[in-house]
Amino acid sequence: MYLSRGLYVFPNKNKIRRFMYDGEEAIELPEITFERQLVNFLEINLTPFNEALDKLEAYTKENTSTDEFLKVMHAIGILAESFCQDEPVYSFLLCTQFYAYSWEITDFNQLYEYKEYAIEMLRNMIHAQSFFFSVADAYCRYEGTHEEKVNKVFLGRERIFSFQLEQVIAHTDVNTKMFQITNPKLPYNRGYRFDNLPDYIWYIFLHAMEFDVNFSQCDYCGHFFIAKTKKKTRYCDRGRTDDGRTCKQIGPQQIYKLRINHSELLADYDRAINRNYRRVERYELKLDDEKQGKDLSYEEYADWLQSLHAAKLAFMSGELSEEEFREAIHRID
Ligand SMILES: [Zn+2]
Repeated sequence: MYLSRGLYVFPNKNKIRRFMYDGEEAIELPEITFERQLVNFLEINLTPFNEALDKLEAYTKENTSTDEFLKVMHAIGILAESFCQDEPVYSFLLCTQFYAYSWEITDFNQLYEYKEYAIEMLRNMIHAQSFFFSVADAYCRYEGTHEEKVNKVFLGRERIFSFQLEQVIAHTDVNTKMFQITNPKLPYNRGYRFDNLPDYIWYIFLHAMEFDVNFSQCDYCGHFFIAKTKKKTRYCDRGRTDDGRTCKQIGPQQIYKLRINHSELLADYDRAINRNYRRVERYELKLDDEKQGKDLSYEEYADWLQSLHAAKLAFMSGELSEEEFREAIHRID
């Protein structure tokens, strides 16, 4: 059986076994549920790549020498190989994409093309995070049953959510650790091979949505988490103060104070999120990609939303004035 480099994933109910196969050997990662993988991906810090992207875009054929291109691409390669090592699946997939562009780069023009390719790969990764951040945020903000929330997120978006998976069928006889059976009742394993991060995250998201796993967003800090009980849980367990108190401990009182003292501001905040989300939805339904008027992309929306969550937190802790918080609310009006 011929195997090429990629991430091999074998689902077993709501869990997956993951094998990073580099073309020679497979390394198994710890088993994980779909929803944990999703929460983890939404948390990773892609700022270094945003910065790298800005730099890469500034290098043109006119202002850059071969040597400079080589140095920059080398630096990006190191960044891709080393980021997020506590969950190496992202780095592995990003590098798989980088290595896929495998022709020998010998001259200046090929180097330039490779740079353009790298820009696209980084953009796709950042876009995937923005997209799922805004979708997950919409899912959590909507009050209702799991089915109603999923409906809210998927309705009319079949085009966006459709994608192809490369399926792998492995009979249990395959004598490698990678194909150890995940479903002991069957004589074969059905899994998938991924060679890029966005596809993997699509897959993770769609499966995370299949089960009602209490996927939640913290009212206080805005981070995602999996609640331990079926009861609606509004606050996460992340430590928020120097003495280790969590969102669950300090959040309710802070939010209560905010509701009592600044109800108008809070309503303004909620309206802005809904209004801007609709702008994204409208733009998404258009057939042409030309942005007009109030159109908003996922990246812009997610960027704003993340900074808005931070602004709300800073306002509640007194680091931001009311005026500054209002400015954050209306920044992309
Ligand atoms: Zn929290």
